[in-house]
Amino acid sequence: MARRGAGYAANSYRTDALVLRTYTLGEADRIIVLLTPGHGQIRAVAKGVRRTSSKFGATLEPFMLSRLQLVHGRNLDIITQAESVSPYGQRIAQDYDAYAAASAMVETAERLTAAEIGEHGGGVEAGSQYRLLHGALAALARGVRAPRLLLDSYLLRSLATAGWAASFTDCARCGAPGPHRSVNVTLGGSVCDDCRPPGSATPAPGTVTLLAALVSGQWDTAEASEEASRREAAGIVAGYLQFHLERRLKSLAVMDQSSHPSARQHP
Ligand SMILES: [Zn+2]
Repeated sequence: MARRGAGYAANSYRTDALVLRTYTLGEADRIIVLLTPGHGQIRAVAKGVRRTSSKFGATLEPFMLSRLQLVHGRNLDIITQAESVSPYGQRIAQDYDAYAAASAMVETAERLTAAEIGEHGGGVEAGSQYRLLHGALAALARGVRAPRLLLDSYLLRSLATAGWAASFTDCARCGAPGPHRSVNVTLGGSVCDDCRPPGSATPAPGTVTLLAALVSGQWDTAEASEEASRREAAGIVAGYLQFHLERRLKSLAVMDQSSHPSARQHP
């Protein structure tokens, strides 16, 4: 990736970015994990960001939307300028439930947009993941919807964008019109009585209604749900997320064994 000899201008680029996570590096620096609309996930270095005198201030804290200038480095790109576009992080940090939901969102976004994802990597999908996360963090910062509902809706929609759309209306296996009584996360959501494998869950009807509303963004229906339905729906969404993330980790492990690191494609 190094472009030795190229001028500074040719070597630099600007982008909006959501801050997903940060790691400390050395005495005063941090590695910032970013999600961008056009470049997918980026890991970049912010030099001196941990000094109180840093020009970056709070622009590179988690959940912030910032406009950045970066230069290509030998390994990681380097952030040279950062200005705040929307300080979502400051507002989200004032509410514990919003903070917990935002943390789970960015962790999922980081895993779903990691460069090693193969066919699910950059391009159109990264742009969609960026817009989805941006909308969810903005909604959390506004504080007008229940953070848990925003989180579960975000998780279902980000998984759908990654290619794993769940159905909580028609049967996920045969397409028979629903609603159906049973849910099976490994089959992708609701299943009819004919398709229902042993061990499928049978959530309360209100829970299935809520899950369908979270998939399609029907907020009036979602906000009319009862607490018990929200808890049960959250458990099903967590199971669905875990199933797909674990399955992907396994397929990545197989890819790592079957390809020498130097032969791997880095688009
Ligand atoms: Zn069926």
